[in-house]
Amino acid sequence: MKPALKWMLPAALAAVLAVLGGVWLRGRNVRAVFSQADAAEAFALAARLVKDCTPRHAGTSGARRAAEWIRQRAVEAGVSARLDEFRAKAPGGECGFANVYAEIPASSGSAAPWIVFISHFDTYPNAGLGFEGANDGASTTGLLLALAKALSRAALRRHNVALVWTDGEESRGAYGPDDGLQGAIRAADEFRRLGRTVAAAVNLDMLGDRDLHIDLPANTTSALNEVVLKAARRLGLISFVSPGTLEMTDDYSAFLAHGWPATDIIDFSYGPDNRWWHTPEDTMDKISVESLLVAGRIAAETFNILDAQ
Ligand SMILES: [Zn+2]
Repeated sequence: MKPALKWMLPAALAAVLAVLGGVWLRGRNVRAVFSQADAAEAFALAARLVKDCTPRHAGTSGARRAAEWIRQRAVEAGVSARLDEFRAKAPGGECGFANVYAEIPASSGSAAPWIVFISHFDTYPNAGLGFEGANDGASTTGLLLALAKALSRAALRRHNVALVWTDGEESRGAYGPDDGLQGAIRAADEFRRLGRTVAAAVNLDMLGDRDLHIDLPANTTSALNEVVLKAARRLGLISFVSPGTLEMTDDYSAFLAHGWPATDIIDFSYGPDNRWWHTPEDTMDKISVESLLVAGRIAAETFNILDAQ
């Protein structure tokens, strides 16, 4: 083979592959993009969950039914999803819980580290009759389902992605070792048991609020908060996010306890003086597609920045 031809053939092959790759990628976004249609779907799914699965208090048959409902919607969204049923201590005695996991594999193989997005789906049990948890539970459950679709459309992923819908986030009395976070503790323990490396755990909570303002709690991983703030800045959405001063307990706490970077994209100011939080006022008319669009775009861009690191 002449030297010139020897070099030309690989070059020609590379050009053909580049064209084929371009054709393959044309129908897909290389990066994750969360669209207006995704936000509308997130809202519609939250409304359906409220209608079909209320109440869904932690550790009850209502929560088990909601978990199966979410699993089915995730499968419809085109991601593989499974239920994880387990028993854990709770006030009044041990009871059964059910988490839902969906996984989107990395392009680079199964050994890649994991980016985990979390939302609880259970309802607060002491809010009175008719409590729907439209914002607190349902809004981010719908958001996570739509996000699963948006992330699986991204053509290239250096990380594995897990979407975890948790049971048992709400406490029955006051947060303590056996009250609240049972689902997140189980999920974090499962990641540890499976030997997975968690690069980031991002909790989403109460993000449907039509008057959206995200406060990143003080007791989270500051480097990860910087990524969320950078994502918001890039999108021109920084006015919706600030590093907060509140110390919170939420599902991300279970991942922090394992030493993994974790944060909470949460709006903990819901209605006048937070009056709609944990009351029957928490209904679908208080949440909006626009807020879910802002939250979904920030979550997807946070993924893009993390995935490029
Ligand atoms: Zn709550």
